[in-house]
Amino acid sequence: MCEEHPAARKRITYGLLSVLALLGLIIILLRFNTTGAPNTILAGPQGGFQGEPNKAPEQEPEDPNDPNDKRLIRPLHKHPAFAERLEERAAMVSRQIEARAVKDPNVLKAMRVVPRHAFIRPAEQRYAYADSPLPIGLDQTISQPYIVAFMTEALKLNHNSKVLEIGTGSGYQAAVCAEIAQKVYTIEIVEALASSAKKHLKELGYPNVFTKAGDGYFGWPEHGPFDAIIGTAAAGRIPQPLVDQLKPGGRMILPHGSPRGFQYLVLITKDKDGNLHRRNVMPVRFVPMTGEVQKPKE
Ligand code: SAH
Repeated sequence: MCEEHPAARKRITYGLLSVLALLGLIIILLRFNTTGAPNTILAGPQGGFQGEPNKAPEQEPEDPNDPNDKRLIRPLHKHPAFAERLEERAAMVSRQIEARAVKDPNVLKAMRVVPRHAFIRPAEQRYAYADSPLPIGLDQTISQPYIVAFMTEALKLNHNSKVLEIGTGSGYQAAVCAEIAQKVYTIEIVEALASSAKKHLKELGYPNVFTKAGDGYFGWPEHGPFDAIIGTAAAGRIPQPLVDQLKPGGRMILPHGSPRGFQYLVLITKDKDGNLHRRNVMPVRFVPMTGEVQKPKE
């Protein structure tokens, strides 16, 4: 009997140690759960990016004026329009966009996701996925889907990009960029268009697009510099403030030329040392950029 005591003591000690180890594990797990990854990050590179629906819980809208707010806020994709006319969008992408050699998978996905018909007036609904620009009122147009895709691809966006757009128009191009980029700042000179685009983008769930009514000539220096700048109205000269607000390593695409004559899409890249490189990439026809750029240069 006496010989059994050490064995029994050993068993009790092991038992106690196991219970303690288990308790320790539970404590560690509980701590991890409450202080682990913050749930305000909705969709980093691993999730939600590339147009995935945002599955995370509600969160406070971001304050665009807070330079320290680094949260990644993704489009919500909850509006019913995202589930409508999917086949037409798929056909638009394969026949008009892939067929013309746009290859960036993020751009193709964005073009499949964004409901173009939600940015178009009732009278033009049946042409929403046609291979052409369409009127959006007040003498302005939404660009041809291929041009939107081509320009977006040229910007080489990723989920960290901060984009500036001049010429919000319907808001469609901004939404396409917002599917890929982190944040899109867009400026529209016609106030009525700026406010209707703002409304549409809000209803559709684009918390990473920030709109402003004003002359895009001056850019948006408070939020610059930008990784990418896209101009969707043609100017006879490239606004210097936009060049200044482009980051080294950044890319800018915009139509350059006379309002009624020849226009080219111009791709401007700023290298790491701040030197500019310019290339004409395609002849185009855009509505004119108005405001400051039309004033004679002093
Ligand atoms: N990107 C738009 C297409 C816009 S058409 C879309 O996806 O629908 C060009 C727009 O540029 C027009 O709405 C026009 O009013 C606007 N615009 C022209 N000059 C401007 C300027 N100086 N600043 C900001 N917007 C301007």
